[in-house]
Amino acid sequence: MRIGAHVDSAEPLVEAAARGADAVQFFLTDPQGYKSPVPRDDAEQLRASEVDIYIHAPYIVNVASPNNRIRIPSRKLLMAHAKAAAEIGGKGLIVHGGHVGSGADLADGFTNWRKAFEYAAKDGGLPLPVLIENTAGGDNACARRFDDLARLWDAVGEFGAGFCLDTCHAFAGGEDLTGIVDRVKSITGRIDLIHANDSKGGFDSGQDRHDNLGNGKIDPELVVAAIRAAGAPAIVETPGGADGQTADIALLRERTGG
Ligand SMILES: [Zn+2]
Repeated sequence: MRIGAHVDSAEPLVEAAARGADAVQFFLTDPQGYKSPVPRDDAEQLRASEVDIYIHAPYIVNVASPNNRIRIPSRKLLMAHAKAAAEIGGKGLIVHGGHVGSGADLADGFTNWRKAFEYAAKDGGLPLPVLIENTAGGDNACARRFDDLARLWDAVGEFGAGFCLDTCHAFAGGEDLTGIVDRVKSITGRIDLIHANDSKGGFDSGQDRHDNLGNGKIDPELVVAAIRAAGAPAIVETPGGADGQTADIALLRERTGG
């Protein structure tokens, strides 16, 4: 079982070693900004490393948006990040499911997602898997409720979209973690990555507030069960720096049996 952590982007391999991580996830740019990634000095080391590399797209990327001043830069940014992530040997680019905003029609969000994949195909194709992540909040989100996720997958499944299951987002988003892997797989057919996080917010609170495993509102056994059932790599996006994340990784390793 490959288990790792979301870390600072400056020296991801040093951060991985500090946590005993088999995998790392990081941002290539400010997650709140529209800057395109620049080539990294450590590209060669990252490509050659035994540590699996995952890249998280900026939070502001929202390819579902009905507003073309958000949607079009989001598409371009997603493609720029995909290319830069592939350049450093990334195994996947994680992007949030996005939302259409209050009063808008969610159907437009699914259509816009489809267009994002079509745009990428015209622009030379995605050089690595894009993993769409479920989100915790909002009533007009494309990938919060799993009945909406099913509609999203009707739109994007044929393009080979991947899926990242965040346990905090699922719980806070109102999806029961018991048996969740089977429910997701019946929709997407795949889980490429688990974001193994506890939740400070309660069930269906809509709050995206991660906590260390066992410290929040989620029974850690449900997180462990999800990782085992999915057979997918897991990344903790938990607080407490190297100490907090090392403990979370150790807990998952011990309870998943490796
Ligand atoms: Zn996440």
